[in-house]
Amino acid sequence: MSIFQHIPGTFDILPIAHDGIAPSHAWRHVERVVRRVLEGFGFEELRTPTFEPTALVARGVGGSTDIVQKEMFAFTKGDTDYVLRPEMTAPAMRAYLEHRLDQRGGTQRLYYLGSCYRAERPQKGRYRQFHQFGVEIIGPGSPHADAEAIAAMMEVYRAFGLTDTRLRLNSLGSRENRAAYREALQAYFQPFANDLSELSRERLVSNPLRILDTKDEREIRLLDGAPALRDFLDDDSRAHYETLQTLLDAAGIAYDQDDRLVRGLDYYGYTTWELEGAGLGAQASLAGGGRYNGLAETLGARETVPAVGFAAGMERLFLALDAAGYAFPDAATPDAFLVVLDGGVEAAFRLGLDLRRAGLSVASTLKRGSFKALMKDAVRSSAPRYVLIGETEAASGIALVKDASTGDQTPVPFAELAAFLQGQASNVR
Ligand code: AMP
Repeated sequence: MSIFQHIPGTFDILPIAHDGIAPSHAWRHVERVVRRVLEGFGFEELRTPTFEPTALVARGVGGSTDIVQKEMFAFTKGDTDYVLRPEMTAPAMRAYLEHRLDQRGGTQRLYYLGSCYRAERPQKGRYRQFHQFGVEIIGPGSPHADAEAIAAMMEVYRAFGLTDTRLRLNSLGSRENRAAYREALQAYFQPFANDLSELSRERLVSNPLRILDTKDEREIRLLDGAPALRDFLDDDSRAHYETLQTLLDAAGIAYDQDDRLVRGLDYYGYTTWELEGAGLGAQASLAGGGRYNGLAETLGARETVPAVGFAAGMERLFLALDAAGYAFPDAATPDAFLVVLDGGVEAAFRLGLDLRRAGLSVASTLKRGSFKALMKDAVRSSAPRYVLIGETEAASGIALVKDASTGDQTPVPFAELAAFLQGQASNVR
């Protein structure tokens, strides 16, 4: 029997880098920076379950989306249908409505960081279990909120020195604007229906706006003559979009107006955006976002709940960091390494606990072996100090502390060991 392997499209995060996946300490570093930036904007963390009722996703994300049509990991238990969350906005809105977070008063500024699941074809930067971070600003309908969501997103990349990005921005207008545009697009494409790809023919019926996303050369040429969404925006939509642009301009946040940016999620209206990174190949999309005032009602709320947010891929962020040659901090090393020789096990075990309770990080091999073999493990740990405990030390209550760089050995009574190591430790917790 061969050993089990991970499922294609998933990956393990190990203490070492492997197969293009950064080590766990690099993940923790990136997560820490993301949290710091978002908390700096006043966002509070939201954690929701990894699975939700299928109906929440089907309705929230939308029946004509790729996600719902073919990418859901869905399963049934008893008489309930569940789905592994493919994204976090519908769950976040569910949680907001269910727990009446509006009653806290003020604007709810939420952020999340966690795993998502989509049955896509796995490739570099595209996984079946991946990780997203993002924010939801729930309550305000003003373009100021859109600008703040965009700014928070940009600041995350800036915090890593990733400024070689391109922000594409568009307005999808109100629901009525989109309905009118949808009809105009259908009328425009109808005579060319036979020239369209099967996918676009399908979209012509189910969700014509998605044709704007096409990668097909011929369809792109056809699009040149198609009606433009911007001509369908009403005064309110236009004013909202113009104010947003004024705010971004004022803050020096550069963007490209992209009439064809519609994004794959049904809940967006008014503003939508996408951030692309440099040198990422096929998976250039770092993050995307937009306004989704209609989502709450879709999920059963009695009234509109204005909301705007973004979602960003962690794996894409790592791709961008790699492409930019980002220098991750080294993994933390233990403050000390216990070298446990024959006759010293009991004393070392108790001493190790005492040292950790005093706030030091202490590693040990937990193996019996020759002095040479144990010292090899000690060196491998990169600890700055080795604490040697054998029969003699256990009997005398005095450990031998060896300095890893100088080789100096100092006898230190057990009772003074924590203070001794702390005095010299670089990273006491
Ligand atoms: P979306 O929720 O589709 O708007 O995607 C938001 C971001 O999540 C994208 O810009 C990507 O960075 C990331 N993302 C989406 N799908 C995947 C995937 N299958 N694997 C890795 N990252 C993904």
